[in-house]
Amino acid sequence: MAANIIDGKAFAAKVREQVKGHVDRLKEEHNITPGLAVVLVGEDPASQVYVRSKGKQTVEVGMNSYEHKMDADTSEADLLAVVEKLNNDPTVHGILVQLPLPKHLDEDLIINSISPAKDVDGFHISNVGLLGTGQKSMVPCTPLGCLMMLRDYHGSLSGMDAVVIGRSNIVGKPMAQLLLGDSCTVTIAHSRTKDLPDVVRRADIVVAAVGRPEMVPGDWIKEGATVIDVGINRIERDGKNKLVGDVDFASCAERAGAITPVPGGVGPMTIACLLANTVTACCRANNLAEPEGLTA
Ligand code: NDP
Repeated sequence: MAANIIDGKAFAAKVREQVKGHVDRLKEEHNITPGLAVVLVGEDPASQVYVRSKGKQTVEVGMNSYEHKMDADTSEADLLAVVEKLNNDPTVHGILVQLPLPKHLDEDLIINSISPAKDVDGFHISNVGLLGTGQKSMVPCTPLGCLMMLRDYHGSLSGMDAVVIGRSNIVGKPMAQLLLGDSCTVTIAHSRTKDLPDVVRRADIVVAAVGRPEMVPGDWIKEGATVIDVGINRIERDGKNKLVGDVDFASCAERAGAITPVPGGVGPMTIACLLANTVTACCRANNLAEPEGLTA
């Protein structure tokens, strides 16, 4: 069986179009422009690329983008003061502190200083708790993007067996919560899981968020299963730099019913969902109806 390819790039473009439609309406009907503030501490090259890309796409959908660049040796007090200022700024509806932070800064402390209503990354402890108890929250962008693609492909996920490989706070755990929320039977696998191949073979949905290049081979995949590959791994092959996921695409695509490629799968959905979360946060802040289909 040749798997259907779930085109995350095209889907993300559709999500951005939807976001832009809502932004246009907020401007025309309510004179409100959603604003996203991104705080970058230090000069990590990958983070600089992400922040640039986020800023560009924010402006493209018609929202205001605010960038706060701070020196690598910024003190915790100074960073907390910037977050506090953004929390109190009514033109800012979403705040994102780019991770990882330099080692001397306490990431949990900083993330939990963001107003939960503006926490568009969905990492604040209040949002984690709300998601875990099935209440309205801000949902982490990468798992939200995965959920949107799964819902789009399958319609209902109810009753499906899902295996999430990886238990990080930013991908694995919230992904599992979202799948549970959609009535899947969810297994979370990790580095201590016994007989991982056997666990994965039972799944109708496999979400791989491990950070190990091409770790999941095709013979772990149940015939017809849907494979969502979150991994982004840079490897060298045949003397060239290449981006690969956590699953071996060629062999998995032979058995899966549908699969996301890397690049062009989950990756583009992450920033699209950040924009979606910002417009959702803006609507909630102004007591306006939330856009449909852009939240969990
Ligand atoms: P983490 O390193 O935080 O977590 C990795 C998880 O994988 C851990 O729970 C770990 O288990 C588990 N794991 C490691 N080795 C194995 C193994 N051999 N068998 C089973 N499980 C294993 O990674 P993240 O969740 O942050 O990211 C995962 C991947 O997703 C990375 O490639 C990252 O680059 C990518 N990513 C992509 C994004 C996107 O926009 N597309 C966004 C975020 C991440 P244990 O807990 O036991 O150590």
